[in-house]
Amino acid sequence: MPERSKRIAVFGSTGSIGRSALDVIAASDGKLRAIALSAHSRLEELLEQARRHRPRWVIATDARAVAAFPWKGLPKGCELVQGPEGLAQVAREGDVDVVLAAIVGSAGLASTWAALESRKTVALANKETLVMAGGLIGELVGQGGGQILPVDSEHSALFQALKAGRAREVARLILTASGGPFKDLSPAELQRVTVAEALSHPTWTMGQKITIDSATMMNKALEIIEARWLFGVEGERISVVLHPQSIVHSLVEFVDGSVIAQMSPPDMRLPIQYALHYPDRAAGVAERMDWSRSLRLEFEPPDRDRFPAIALGEQCAKAGGTSGAVLSAANEAAVAAFLEGDLHFTEIVPACRSVLSAHNFEPNPTLERLLQLDRWARQEISRWVCV
Ligand code: NAD
Ligand code: MG
Repeated sequence: MPERSKRIAVFGSTGSIGRSALDVIAASDGKLRAIALSAHSRLEELLEQARRHRPRWVIATDARAVAAFPWKGLPKGCELVQGPEGLAQVAREGDVDVVLAAIVGSAGLASTWAALESRKTVALANKETLVMAGGLIGELVGQGGGQILPVDSEHSALFQALKAGRAREVARLILTASGGPFKDLSPAELQRVTVAEALSHPTWTMGQKITIDSATMMNKALEIIEARWLFGVEGERISVVLHPQSIVHSLVEFVDGSVIAQMSPPDMRLPIQYALHYPDRAAGVAERMDWSRSLRLEFEPPDRDRFPAIALGEQCAKAGGTSGAVLSAANEAAVAAFLEGDLHFTEIVPACRSVLSAHNFEPNPTLERLLQLDRWARQEISRWVCV
């Protein structure tokens, strides 16, 4: 009897991670099947993906785009589900084995929460969810609600490297960072960075928000917080090292001084594939290392004055409570303002810092409180933009 396919709900299927996930599924020899696809507003592409992958559900979340779209040619047996609540509804369906959480920003939280509550496996790309509510999500998983498998390349690397020892033998997690496109610019040059320059990353092709986050290094700040919640390692034992080649995706240092790294050419299809097939490894769709060519790997400590976002990430990883939700929402709003031309590149991190220090910290917030603070932080950024 052939093995039953693992049924994957790809939330955010029209994004950079979503499209890569569909490549991984198409190359899986039937071991993986896309049972649901979701998009916000790029509905033509969603329809085209539905024709190719024949899912049970397509979810379209942006009401205005849904109303304007003709919906001709949806394949037979494929049901259209509308609105953000449709994501949570499909995440709970018994026919869904794994939810690939590849929606960008805090819009991804509710469906990941619903999937974990229904004891599903979540392959998590959407780091903002953990940054916002990592403490509560950790409690939910601890109560027997599902499991999280990291998709972020650094966290996939840590997850794999951590298998080399026991939790109490871990001394330090080391996240690698390419340094983004502006690693060597002077402060005066940074002031003049344009949207087009910030959107061009040297090693990765990604969605707009994470590309800007990589340029400001806020991405690494969010990843420090993400690692803190995923692996239960305090912020003080998580470091960042610049590694411009993006071959070593992160490292774990154990108490005896041994350091275990995970390496591969930079291609998000590999960590996506690892999470979707887990605990198996499948023949790769991604490019492999070429050991017949010489290869140089460089590592250097980041310039913390040039990249003040790192300190914000460390601060929030240490404080926990409400701080991650405020940082994440402020950053989402600040990046949107930068993309609109309403904020300078060099103002993104100071704006986030000022909102973070203005908020009333609470150590044990409820989910409702975090969502309130998410809205508050966005308003604060809009005031910052107007000043
Ligand atoms: P993207 O912008 O390319 O795609 C985002 C997806 O989310 C799209 O399918 C879009 O339709 C959907 N979406 C947007 N707003 C939505 C809303 N309000 N409600 C519902 N759906 C919405 O983003 P991406 O680069 O694929 O990143 C997705 C997530 O994965 C982010 O959290 C990012 O930090 C994380 N991630 C991305 C990469 C990467 O290489 N792109 C690497 C690591 C982690
Ligand atoms: Mg990453």
